[in-house]
Amino acid sequence: MHVELSKLASFAKEQGFIYPGSEIYDGLGGIYDYGPLGAELKRRIAELWWRAMVQLHENIVGLDSAILMHPRVWEASGHVEAFHDPLVDNKVSKKRYRVDTLIEEYAQRLEDRARKEVEKKVQKAGLPREAVTERLMAHKDFQRAENLRSRLAAALRTKDWAALTTLLNEEKIPCPESGASDWTPVRQFNLMFSTHLGAVAEEAQEIYLRPETAQGIFVDFPLVWKTSRLKPPFGIAQIGKAFRNEIVARQFIFRMREFEQMEMQFFVPPGTEEEWYTYWKERRMRWHMHLGLSADRLRFKDHEHLAHYARAATDIEFEFPFGFRELEGIHSRTDYDLSRHAQYSGKKLDYFDEALGRSYIPYVIETSVGLDRLVLAHLSQAYTEEMAPTAEGGEEVRTVLKLHPLLAPIQVAVFPLVRKEEFIAPARKIYEELRFYFMTAYEEKDSIGRRYRRYDAKGTPYAITIDGQTLEDETVTVRERDTLEQIRLPMNQLRSFLSEKLSIPVWLQTF
Ligand code: ATP
Repeated sequence: MHVELSKLASFAKEQGFIYPGSEIYDGLGGIYDYGPLGAELKRRIAELWWRAMVQLHENIVGLDSAILMHPRVWEASGHVEAFHDPLVDNKVSKKRYRVDTLIEEYAQRLEDRARKEVEKKVQKAGLPREAVTERLMAHKDFQRAENLRSRLAAALRTKDWAALTTLLNEEKIPCPESGASDWTPVRQFNLMFSTHLGAVAEEAQEIYLRPETAQGIFVDFPLVWKTSRLKPPFGIAQIGKAFRNEIVARQFIFRMREFEQMEMQFFVPPGTEEEWYTYWKERRMRWHMHLGLSADRLRFKDHEHLAHYARAATDIEFEFPFGFRELEGIHSRTDYDLSRHAQYSGKKLDYFDEALGRSYIPYVIETSVGLDRLVLAHLSQAYTEEMAPTAEGGEEVRTVLKLHPLLAPIQVAVFPLVRKEEFIAPARKIYEELRFYFMTAYEEKDSIGRRYRRYDAKGTPYAITIDGQTLEDETVTVRERDTLEQIRLPMNQLRSFLSEKLSIPVWLQTF
């Protein structure tokens, strides 16, 4: 089932996953807060990434570098000069857009429309499915979409904003809001937030909030390899906040202005980058699937137009409620970043390889995934509405969050069947024991059916009920969230049962 984004956003707010930032002041564009359940979900995803990347990789170490860095870092990295997006305003709707997304989305709409039309005709004529591709290529809307894409790519490559203005006007690209093609000239906009370091205004230095965590890894590279005695191939991983003053931040937590990245730079001897690129592509895709993202909602999308320093680049795309979009980027970045930092800092950043008897600047394979986009991917796939039996023998719609049990913010819920002391006492005892090992909740209010539903919506995989039989033989009911199956277990076996169900499985150890 594919949930609509607006529905998911209100569900996430209601349940305490994600709130608009500064809500009581009417919010702040593109800024979100994680509520009690969201904070837990995010922490679990980050923990599993760290475990797979750092703990279980002999040659990857962690880092936690500062958000604020020397301003020269961003000159060396190219961000001061080139971290721009082209923006445009529609004169009728007064809405602001990123020109590349505006044109890409319009081209996609043209293509989708053409495909639908062709599929219908092919089906009607009783032709084989293969006929679709051929006819699609000949369709005028499809050709127009392709033409728009290639003109867009050429203009972006040369940062030719005037060409983009011409493209918008010539092709009469409509504003999705007003339908009008009345545009201001395209302007460029640097996405970095700046601030000032130092107390005295005149002496304060202009610095930036980092737009990516990667540069901290490059700058600390010589310190890390010296202190950890690693040699290429080896990696440095870090999780941290990044900031981008995105022109348009409209898709909930997909595009935020303050977000969190999980990045790993893998330093390899030149000449081996291709095999490591393939290795990381496969590994990262497998990690997403292991954690429950479904294979048919994931795909690779290779970059057609590479940045000048890149050898190869691909995105792992996930099918979000608004279509396939980038979840993670995997890039083969050559020795560009380290060489630039060597040049700008005047420090030697090459590595002396004793086995080879010479020094070199390592090549880099980067894996970079947005933690918030992962939260959104998991929430949107897990959100399910389905018919379920009621206690009275009827049926009703239940909303259930089918998260992978390892990601569930609350792993176990404990309920006394009724609010009476003889049920409450053993229930509290179980709760107090289990919470030591698992995120456990206790609730005694409302009917048992309502409590089950409440925790289904929070994604809690196991609910334990203390009922009449418990008082006789010390067994309890364990209910499974997805199958609704109920089993009876002796109280003293709960911990080992749950430990087995909620422990990190072998796949993570062989990752
Ligand atoms: P996009 O094309 O969607 O703007 P990007 O190519 O600029 O993304 P990268 O610079 O490769 O993104 O950043 C690496 C990862 O960081 C992305 O794959 C994404 O998951 C995450 N990310 C980037 N920008 C944002 C944002 N504004 N909000 C949330 N996550 C982001």
